[in-house]
Amino acid sequence: MNVDLPIRAETVVDLRAVRHNVALLAGRAAASGAATMVVVKADGYGHGALPVARAALDAGATWLGTASVHEALALREQGITAPILSWLDTPAADFAAGVAAGVDLSVSSPGELARVSAAAASAGRVARVHLKIDTGLARNGCPPETWPHLVKAAAAEPGVQVVAMWSHLACADEPGHPSIDAQAARFADAHRVAREAGLDPMRHLANSAATLTRPDLHFDLVRPGIAVYGLNPVPQAEDLRPVMTFRSSVVLTRRVPAGESVSYGHTWTATRDTTLALVPAGYADGVPRSLSGRMSVWLDGARRPVAGRICMDQFVVDCGDHEPDVGAEVVLFGDGTLGEPTAREWADTLGTIDYEIVTGMYRPRVARRYV
Ligand code: PLP
Repeated sequence: MNVDLPIRAETVVDLRAVRHNVALLAGRAAASGAATMVVVKADGYGHGALPVARAALDAGATWLGTASVHEALALREQGITAPILSWLDTPAADFAAGVAAGVDLSVSSPGELARVSAAAASAGRVARVHLKIDTGLARNGCPPETWPHLVKAAAAEPGVQVVAMWSHLACADEPGHPSIDAQAARFADAHRVAREAGLDPMRHLANSAATLTRPDLHFDLVRPGIAVYGLNPVPQAEDLRPVMTFRSSVVLTRRVPAGESVSYGHTWTATRDTTLALVPAGYADGVPRSLSGRMSVWLDGARRPVAGRICMDQFVVDCGDHEPDVGAEVVLFGDGTLGEPTAREWADTLGTIDYEIVTGMYRPRVARRYV
């Protein structure tokens, strides 16, 4: 038995690639005097928050970012002591536990400020907060009209230490988009207002795309996510290495005659005698059914098309006159260097973004292996 092969399907997460990508991003940030917060929300975009966090901190990041307090606490419980900012929760979240664990919290409204200061009181500690201004994404973040009120209230709140002010860009992945400068201008106005209220907060605005293309917007801290995972959000080439490979293996082969139809709905029929290989990964494992008829895999040194519909647990590959061994590796997507499909290629075919592809790979039935 080849112990190197997955039982069904697995993602292989290359932490050397994480280190390479973080070193590149942190180097760009450092050149403008900024520190680097690596975003590890959604279980590190499907790659595993803890191993990615460790590799990132190793490679020059000094902060981590999560969506929820729960995600931040999980990192603390596993020994991560670096500063962590958590930015999006429901009121039901355990902010007191976050404050007690030294997790920085985002505050966008007087209601959130009240919740965080109550949490600080119950934890018996001062809460570290990052005030969020909405500069044009129109999700959370304090609207500019009420920002003066929020900064004054935060400055006057004894249970709270304002560590930073921040915002998030809507179109940084389209360099030159006019909204980027418009958001930057609103951010500058908001900073002036904060200074007038007696605050001197750190500032952070840049996601991966702005980290790569807008050094003038690095401020004190950048917050790259997708580029850490080696997926390039901007049009120009960057030396980023995709971190995730999705692989499985052949469990069965059979020779079928021309005219044989394959899988549910008989949507595919062999036009010649051919060898079919069965792969034990399906839509329950992150192989989208909507890639049926539009997908190939890397198997024995070539791309080979998927025949017929992708099922819940399996799909079939049309190998022609090639006869793969049972146990042969099947790469569904990888970094593309062999010629195998990439997460970007899947995303383009599906009309989505590679963020969704890799983040969607956090699945109980898919093993994860770190190299
Ligand atoms: N900052 C915030 C607030 C985010 O929500 C995200 C991700 O969506 C990021 C930074 C990282 O963005 P990206 O993955 O595009 O670098």
